[in-house]
Amino acid sequence: MARVYLDHNATAPLRPEVRDAIPGWLGRLGNPSSVHAEGRGARRLVEEARAQVAALAGAKPERVVFTASGTEANNLALRGFPDRRLLVSAVEHASVLAARPDAELLPVDGLGRVDPAVLAAALAGDPRPALVSIMAANNETGVLQPVSELAAAARGTGALFHCDAVQMPGRLPMPGGWDLLTLSAHKLGGLTGAGALVLAGADPAALVRGGGQERGRRAGTEGVLAIAAFGLAASLVEAEGFPDLRAALESTLVANGGKILGAGAERLPNTVCVALPGVAAETQLMALDLAGFAISSGSACSSGKVGRSHVLAAMGVGPDLAGSAIRVSFGRLTTAQDLTRFAAAWIGLARKAA
Ligand code: PLP
Repeated sequence: MARVYLDHNATAPLRPEVRDAIPGWLGRLGNPSSVHAEGRGARRLVEEARAQVAALAGAKPERVVFTASGTEANNLALRGFPDRRLLVSAVEHASVLAARPDAELLPVDGLGRVDPAVLAAALAGDPRPALVSIMAANNETGVLQPVSELAAAARGTGALFHCDAVQMPGRLPMPGGWDLLTLSAHKLGGLTGAGALVLAGADPAALVRGGGQERGRRAGTEGVLAIAAFGLAASLVEAEGFPDLRAALESTLVANGGKILGAGAERLPNTVCVALPGVAAETQLMALDLAGFAISSGSACSSGKVGRSHVLAAMGVGPDLAGSAIRVSFGRLTTAQDLTRFAAAWIGLARKAA
């Protein structure tokens, strides 16, 4: 039986159109800063990709800064304004939480959302210029933040608003109202090795200095192949109409003892965070992997070991329930049959544990 890949929030599969274009690009990998024909060919690839990523974000091409990852883009956004007071939500990705040691954490409600009134009150309490960083959609639970209201609350006090929108493209329309926006190529069907920070307002100070690449905002010879793949994948992103498979999957899991975390909040249509009380997430991951399903626990850290999820902890989910939660994240090409097969395997685990 073919394996079923249900870990799109970790890395989405390479889009076939991108795979087909790569051999042609491999012959055009001069240095984009070189003035000869080979260099100019590589420059054209980078600039075409810049326009494509800008179109996805709804920004001007010259406001797109290519980086090597979403992680780097988040670091540039937050560390690029060292003099601003920084407020971030407690459910951000580690690359936001760890970017600056002086970040102040904004609490979330039981469904993982920041209340715009809480943000407004936190900003009102301090006259210093601020930077606020709140993600569009959570990678572990799929829970959406009220980005327009949060951005308005921030901007009403003169604060800059950064939005990590890494999990949005192709699933829901892109958010607006931000001053800085993070994207990552491998989450939308490109290759690993490219990300972008898109600017609507102020410019961050460069973290990587050297050559004048990216208008001095990020030095280093551009990763032309990954950037070209990013651009093409971004141009293929569909804004609407993600297949409606989540509700059916969730009701099957709930009917068999599953608890959906974040249920009741608006969420990404492709993400299900489900706890199976009494069965450790690690045990579920391994059994499901052997049965042919690639899923993850929201809390898998880079060593592959399962730690406690800071996202679920911030939502007030107790350690036992959180420790039994896995994340299923699918894509546009995932079929109802794939999810039915997954549910059958998961129900097998649930029955064994009962
Ligand atoms: N932000 C969010 C919400 C993510 O889910 C991820 C990746 O998991 C990142 C940032 C980091 O992106 P990258 O893998 O490109 O460094």
